[in-house]
Amino acid sequence: MKLYLIYGGKSAEHEVSIKSAHSILQKLYYEYYTVIPVYISREGNWLKGSVVEGLTDVPEFEEMNQTDTKEAFNFIEMLEGESVAFPVLHGPNGEDGTVQGLFEVFDIPYVGTGVLSSAVGMDKIISKSIFKDAGLPVLPYQEVKLTDWKVHSGVVMDDLETELGFPMFVKPANLGSSVGISRVLDKDKLKEAVEMAFEYDYRVVVEKGVKAIEIEVAVLGNEDIHTSVPGELIKHKPFYDYEDKYLNQEVIRQVPSDISDELTKELRELAAKAFHAIDGSGISRVDFFLTEDDKVYINEVNTFPGFTNNSMYPRVWAKTGLPYEDLIEEVIQLGIRRHKDRL
Ligand code: ATP
Ligand code: MG
Ligand code: MG
Ligand code: MG
Repeated sequence: MKLYLIYGGKSAEHEVSIKSAHSILQKLYYEYYTVIPVYISREGNWLKGSVVEGLTDVPEFEEMNQTDTKEAFNFIEMLEGESVAFPVLHGPNGEDGTVQGLFEVFDIPYVGTGVLSSAVGMDKIISKSIFKDAGLPVLPYQEVKLTDWKVHSGVVMDDLETELGFPMFVKPANLGSSVGISRVLDKDKLKEAVEMAFEYDYRVVVEKGVKAIEIEVAVLGNEDIHTSVPGELIKHKPFYDYEDKYLNQEVIRQVPSDISDELTKELRELAAKAFHAIDGSGISRVDFFLTEDDKVYINEVNTFPGFTNNSMYPRVWAKTGLPYEDLIEEVIQLGIRRHKDRL
């Protein structure tokens, strides 16, 4: 079977995707697949790399985006023989259902959540209303549309202050890796924060900020789903921005988190519920806030979370008893099975 590992992408999370893909290439079961790396440049060009024959043949990290040594990728070759697509893409144009739709149209099995769950999971506004409908606890939030903002930003800011108070978190509706997100402590900084978020999306979500620890639970499966032990993000500042997450290696992960068995059980159940609510299949990482008085809120579902061997998703699975290489194989098989089962 041919496995097309698709990475890079037209998203602010381009670099992270290359890291995840590079990590995966080092742990694939090469005896099962002919592995074809496909790099999507920042401009959106799909480029085909040389076939990776085995572990000793994995390109160096720096070579993963050497566009000049790659030829344009002709999508049609995926239709010849048996293929499976493994989109290792984070953020818009990859984690949001768009690329998944391409594979659906061409009837190619692919790894990760489907079109609907990818789109819903990526959208912080739609997903919150679906979580609320499913009875999941969500922090107070407000949507801001660019058209409204342009007409009366002053009124919008007054409303935000009345409805949410400070601190607030301002986020583009569709993105990840903290790109475009600000924590706002007072009205002076609110305008700047909203305008920064609008650089990434035409819809912005503003949430009430809470002081909380952050717990992440991994979900794996199609009909039959499994949840992992919870992992905890240990913070030494109010939140990690993009640089902290990927450049400064600031993020400390405690796996498993030492929260009580009772809370662990609750969060695992909520994670499964959230996954079902968005019609998840394959994988997702569900992120929670846990406040000092033990109140739980769901923050978001990441349908294609960071996937390096050091990322939270693989680490919580390893602790749950599923090593990285077996996890990779399992997610591929889940993609193939969904394609067979859901015709
Ligand atoms: P990723 O996909 O990398 O997990 P993201 O870009 O989707 O991140 P969020 O997870 O929503 O963004 O927010 C990034 C971080 O900001 C959170 O991990 C948390 O530390 C902080 N944060 C976000 N919203 C809130 C909030 N309402 N209250 C307190 N902290 C928050
Ligand atoms: Mg996210
Ligand atoms: Mg994300
Ligand atoms: Mg998050």
